[in-house]
Amino acid sequence: MNAMVKAEGVHKSFGAAHILKGIDLEVAPREVFCLIGPSGSGKSTFLRCINHLEKINAGRLSVDGELVGYRQKGDKLYELKDSEVALKRRDIGMVFQRFNLFPHMTALANVMEAPMQVKGVSKSVARERALKLLDRVGLADKAGNYPSQLSGGQQQRVAIARALAMEPKLMLFDEPTSALDPELVGDVLDVMRGLAEDGMTMIVVTHEMGFAREVGDALVFMDNGVVVESGHPRDVLTNPQHDRTKSFLSKVL
Ligand code: ADP
Ligand code: MG
Repeated sequence: MNAMVKAEGVHKSFGAAHILKGIDLEVAPREVFCLIGPSGSGKSTFLRCINHLEKINAGRLSVDGELVGYRQKGDKLYELKDSEVALKRRDIGMVFQRFNLFPHMTALANVMEAPMQVKGVSKSVARERALKLLDRVGLADKAGNYPSQLSGGQQQRVAIARALAMEPKLMLFDEPTSALDPELVGDVLDVMRGLAEDGMTMIVVTHEMGFAREVGDALVFMDNGVVVESGHPRDVLTNPQHDRTKSFLSKVL
């Protein structure tokens, strides 16, 4: 079976700053793949490369068997046009630390928006699906609320529903609970756990080691633009092999 995400020697620089220094990893379909590492190690940059928000400088990066940003014909690569990139990005849902909901729209309208605008789904169908998704994230009774009338955790769950509305084959989570008050973290993690149980392929950048241990299928520790250590979350978390991993874990566990 194809990997859902495959990175081979991926490099990314911003000007003279070499941020990703040869990332190799593979995410299998239906896998919950956790990515941990110190601030500045390149985790967000890597997610942004997967989601076409940044272009890699060297190596190969593919999603569901197709190169990110390029079309291959024979042994030649052609850069995708903006319209082609937009089509690919539909298949990838992303949830950020900050919820980025449209402030002037209700929770329901936030979830309905992209399917209607991007996919041309009818209003009635979009509404029906959005209500189901809000129910799935435990917010059926908040459909009419505006973001300012929701807690951070509720806003983040709306953001997850909004990403799911595009029926992505891959979900990227970039520290989805880092901006939340501690008592609101659990509800968001529960929604993510439910998604995992439903078989969604997920890459999760997180400092929630309990989630990584209980829900994760694979865990990578990244530092300074390289993968230092990877394996099953239980193994890496309880028996880290590298000093850098040990030192990081001693600070977050
Ligand atoms: P992490 O998510 O692991 O904290 P990031 O991927 O956000 O790390 O950042 C890694 C490094 O790349 C940081 O030093 C950051 O300043 C730098 N960086 C990220 N985006 C840009 C950019 N657009 N231009 C210049 N430097 C950037
Ligand atoms: Mg980051």
